[in-house]
Amino acid sequence: MSAPLVLVINAGSSSLKYQLLEPDSGEVTADGLIERIGEPVSVITHEQGGSETVEELSLPDHGAAIAKALELFAAKGTDLAQVDLCAVGHRVVHGGRSLYEPTLIDQHVIDEIERVSPLAPLHNPPNLVGIEAAQALFPDVPQVAVFDTGFFHGLPDKSALYAIDREVSEKYALRRYGFHGTSHDYVSHRAAEFLGRDYASTNQIVAHLGNGASMSAIRDGRPVDTTMGLTPLEGLVMGTRCGDIDPGLLLHLNRVVGLSVDEIDHLLNKQSGLKGLCGENDFRSVTQMIEAGNADAKTAYDIYIHRLRRYFGAYLVELGRTDIISFTAGVGENAAGVRADSLAGLEGFGIAIDPERNAVRGHEPRVISTDDSRTTVLVVPTNEELAIARQAKALVAS
Ligand code: AMP
Repeated sequence: MSAPLVLVINAGSSSLKYQLLEPDSGEVTADGLIERIGEPVSVITHEQGGSETVEELSLPDHGAAIAKALELFAAKGTDLAQVDLCAVGHRVVHGGRSLYEPTLIDQHVIDEIERVSPLAPLHNPPNLVGIEAAQALFPDVPQVAVFDTGFFHGLPDKSALYAIDREVSEKYALRRYGFHGTSHDYVSHRAAEFLGRDYASTNQIVAHLGNGASMSAIRDGRPVDTTMGLTPLEGLVMGTRCGDIDPGLLLHLNRVVGLSVDEIDHLLNKQSGLKGLCGENDFRSVTQMIEAGNADAKTAYDIYIHRLRRYFGAYLVELGRTDIISFTAGVGENAAGVRADSLAGLEGFGIAIDPERNAVRGHEPRVISTDDSRTTVLVVPTNEELAIARQAKALVAS
């Protein structure tokens, strides 16, 4: 008899990723990505049994997107209702103060995810739609929420607390939660394993550079700092999010420019970052614009790299000794130039990238530093779906 599978659902603001896999071996039965949900033309890419189906169609919401995915499973001969599923694992971005460990979803959990939605307005609402759609489709299968904040739950106060009135921050649970935790957790463990090092005595920096981007510092296997904060808006420059800004700018936008809170929210979450600076949020498009001589795109790139270097500097000093730096996610795994530029000229800090190694492409972890670089620099493809599937299975088995 084949081992039970987990269906992982990762619902973003306008996208939905799903994967049907066996959590122990990591063997993937099917894998899909639906983009531009809610726009006139959505795109679904579904891979199963060695073949890829790409369709363009109108998918008005996440419910329609999930129904379409089921149709493609069926077209490839898999009736999901008949599959031996031990759990559906959901990526949930924010669980507030009380939810951070993998959690069996019930009405109370749904209410709590909804209550803290203002802290992750791009993510929590679609996460909930994904949960509700999966509950309706698989009423007898345990649904497990795996929180993006979980890995950073134990951040020390010195990096978790904002320097504001303590009474206010305690009353409203205003602290730095950190996000992309599943990826930072997976990548840092994979990096230590790949190099044959003991996780608990390794100091690492992980740069997760995708459409969203964050960095973490890990000392002796415990996260000690990360760039995202109360919400996934703080830190690095991202596709459409601004990252760090002077909080006074928000007051100015409201008082002097006259923008409402919702307009500021939209500006900082959706019209900022690379998109705000040069009109494109997709890193490949930004690169093409630079190659075509676009000055705004070049400035956007320079700001992106400058912010990365600022955090590399902070984390190298925080850790004192850094054994491993890993790059991951869409940009981190693919953009050799970003890796080279963000760590250029750091030979004095014991970090040297080997240009030939850095140019190699692949789907496996690989070293991109020179043999005499004191810090080993890696590219480690992230696999949040596998990590979520394993955590979901462990919870339902316990
Ligand atoms: P993610 O959020 O991890 O899916 O990453 C999405 C980002 O990765 C987008 O900005 C893409 O443009 C970027 N990306 C994907 N493939 C490449 C590539 N080959 N070169 C540069 N950037 C890429």
